[in-house]
Amino acid sequence: MSDQPDVDVAVVGAGPSGLMLANLLGAQGLRVTVFEAGPQLLDYPRGVGMDDETLRTFQNAGLVDAVLPHTVPHQLLVFVDARQRDLARLAPPTAEFGWPRRNGFVQPLADRVLLDGLSRFPAVQVRWSSRVTGFTQDGAGVSLSVETQDGPGGQGGPGGEISVRASYVVGADGGSSATRKALGLSFDGTTATANWFVIDIRNDPLGRPGAYVCADPRRPYVSIGLPHGIRRFEFMLKPGETEELAMTDEFVTRLIEPLVPATARVDIIRKRVYTHHSRIASRFRSGRVLVIGDAAHVMPVWQGQGYNSGIRDSLNLSWKLAMVIRGLAGDHILDTYESERREHVRAMVDLSTWVGRAVSVTNPVAAGLRNAFFRSLSAIPKAKAYIVTMRFKPMPLITTGALTTAGSVSVPSPVGRLFIQPTVSTRTAVSVKLDDAIGPWFALIAWNNNPREILDDDARRRLARTGVRLVTARPAVQLPWSEPGAGTDDEVLVVGDLDGSLKRWFDGHPDSVLLLRPDRIVGGASPAYAASDMVRAFDAAVSAPDPGQPSPPPREQAQATPLVTVQED
Ligand SMILES: Cc1cc2nc3c(=O)[nH]c(=O)nc-3n(C[C@H](O)[C@H](O)[C@H](O)COP(=O)(O)OP(=O)(O)OC[C@H]3O[C@@H](n4cnc5c(N)ncnc54)[C@H](O)[C@@H]3O)c2cc1C
Repeated sequence: MSDQPDVDVAVVGAGPSGLMLANLLGAQGLRVTVFEAGPQLLDYPRGVGMDDETLRTFQNAGLVDAVLPHTVPHQLLVFVDARQRDLARLAPPTAEFGWPRRNGFVQPLADRVLLDGLSRFPAVQVRWSSRVTGFTQDGAGVSLSVETQDGPGGQGGPGGEISVRASYVVGADGGSSATRKALGLSFDGTTATANWFVIDIRNDPLGRPGAYVCADPRRPYVSIGLPHGIRRFEFMLKPGETEELAMTDEFVTRLIEPLVPATARVDIIRKRVYTHHSRIASRFRSGRVLVIGDAAHVMPVWQGQGYNSGIRDSLNLSWKLAMVIRGLAGDHILDTYESERREHVRAMVDLSTWVGRAVSVTNPVAAGLRNAFFRSLSAIPKAKAYIVTMRFKPMPLITTGALTTAGSVSVPSPVGRLFIQPTVSTRTAVSVKLDDAIGPWFALIAWNNNPREILDDDARRRLARTGVRLVTARPAVQLPWSEPGAGTDDEVLVVGDLDGSLKRWFDGHPDSVLLLRPDRIVGGASPAYAASDMVRAFDAAVSAPDPGQPSPPPREQAQATPLVTVQED
């Protein structure tokens, strides 16, 4: 087989994680093939909660306008007791990252938006009914075996076994990931003992917009208003209530009757029994093969973070793969995908598991104690505000990875944290979200300074090599002013701080120059006087080894990667 890759990246699985990754890589001009075992998108009830970070990623991918019609912005989440009295109410009012923190959504429709988005990229294709059955990797790439019913080129026709050579493979093949198993990675954690039964109904017989979790010890259940007249019910199944029993009309009627009168019309779209797992893969990377989304971690649904965590993985990995394949960064930055994502994922798994345990209590005495605990918290204004505004939600905080703290003087440093997304103005746009103004790639933002003036030649050359957008931020009233020789907006974008959010941010941080990564994590920060050194330190952290220097042996050779064969469940 030729060493020349057929594609830059082969993605295994057309779920949301794989499709988002393919969109982000497609936008970078990479050649990507997504292999999907099924003949079409999965259509069973799944994710219903999308957070602000995920909407920001859809925005980065140029798809936010297409997905918003399938969302309920600022969806209320209320935990209630058996008598429908509040235990905890989550209604975060802010949108500091540019989007509401909680949004109801319909996963199959959002997945469709991601799939349709790929048609923008001629070098990206999806091959349906194409199951990846094995792969071998060496120092130069990965050779995949694919069993397909889709003919060559994805045009239909006779299928069979095909071989594909890729520079990198990303397993986005879900919780029972064959890619993860083939790499020999363990999937450590626990599985809940009780099953849950999900029912989606159209022509919502209740019609309320919020999400309600009823921690009734007799049978905990969930009731959620979703876009397009859809109602989601989830009921905990009791020991002995089998999947076969759950699927019967009588059983469904018995579950729903206390919530919807028997005389009301109930149009069921889909129903499904599922189990909650709390598991994380022992590693997210082995050589040229990486795992993302449910293939890397699964968690109970209580914080709605399974879907969102997969999207975070896609975003984190996408720009690193793009940089490596375009020769802008060393292969070592792919290791930072795991070091940057693992702790955050673990925090989400732990939180989701804890909430699940609290909701699923069936002992009435224990349920009473739990209720008393949550009521006492709500009686303390600070604790109540902490819950209402969802300050308990773990936010990304990267301590080691593709970033530098060199030069940062803020305490705590903003490096490794997500940057805010206010609405700003530019000389051509009256009101625009920051990310839309500065574009989806790297940006260096300097408050009150022209970056061209404060950076030395070497720093400017490094930034230009990576295609970093230079931005100066200033109060919006200063927008019309232009100093002589400031350069065009193409050279240095001038951003006006419309509502004071940017000034407030810089008021709180002595670092006045920020290097924003494509995932909007602050990759470096410094006062103006140290900006050039900060740029050099970031470049050194990510850049490809100098071709003049002797390079270490490729990791694949060092670890003598064995033949890997994907095993079915
Ligand atoms: C009932 C329920 C409710 C949920 N609610 C929420 C929520 O509110 N919020 C939230 O954030 N998350 C929620 N989740 C979780 C969310 O749905 C998943 O985390 C998300 O779908 C994972 O996406 P993925 O792309 O990683 O994997 P998947 O969506 O599982 O996609 C994997 C794809 O890989 C394909 N595949 C598998 N093996 C191969 C192979 N060998 N070759 C080719 N293709 C292969 C599969 O056919 C599938 O299409 C919920 C899940 C369930 C079950």
